[in-house]
Amino acid sequence: MKLRIAHLYPDLLNLYGDIGNITTLTKRCTWRGIDIATDQIYGNEPIHFSDYDLIFLGGGSDREQLLVRDKLIKMKSEITSYVENGGVLLAVCGGYQLLGSYYKLKDETIKGLDILNIQTEIGQGRLIGDIVIKNEKFGTIVGFENHGGRTFINDHTPLGRVIYGNGNNDTESEKFEGVMYKNVIATYLHGSLLPKNPKLADHIIKLMLEQRGESGELSPLDDTAENEAHSYIVNRFAHN
Ligand code: GLN
Repeated sequence: MKLRIAHLYPDLLNLYGDIGNITTLTKRCTWRGIDIATDQIYGNEPIHFSDYDLIFLGGGSDREQLLVRDKLIKMKSEITSYVENGGVLLAVCGGYQLLGSYYKLKDETIKGLDILNIQTEIGQGRLIGDIVIKNEKFGTIVGFENHGGRTFINDHTPLGRVIYGNGNNDTESEKFEGVMYKNVIATYLHGSLLPKNPKLADHIIKLMLEQRGESGELSPLDDTAENEAHSYIVNRFAHN
């Protein structure tokens, strides 16, 4: 059995170390003897979503997001069925925004894939910096955000409550970050997401295995370095 990741358009969606998420999943599987491979998807080839155990979409500039949207919209029904059937998808920032109804810029609106009932609008200035959120199951999650879009998630379940930073937007009184929907994790947190949050990385591996009908039981790893990197951010920004 070999797990397969599709890394979508790494030439267009590749901000702030997003590739680190793929490296982390690959390493954590390999260390446990789980076979895993990644296909980097470029160009306009149709994607056979059901061949994959994880679809990964990174972040990108507005212009690059539009190029990616034009490719993905042609496969809207395939990617929607993948998600509705429990396919695992990790989407970061620009990728997250594209899963929604639209991303409204000053002069144009980028229509999204409508997989999530979320809407994004450009606001004043960018929301940039370290961020710490809390999820009931994974505890604190640390990361880095840099986005002009403000996302409104309606009744969706967020990935977490913001302890430090901005998250989905800077206007709602209760601050939340990201969305969890079926086996989709969509978030503004970039490439330090999985390297610095090993519990979340293992959750994704578990989902990938379970979708294959395998046991999601994972042998423990020595996460001393990962936990130190995680705690450094928590202690620096969100120690109380
Ligand atoms: N272009 C989008 C925004 O600025 C997404 C940016 C990103 O992926 N970091 O909101």
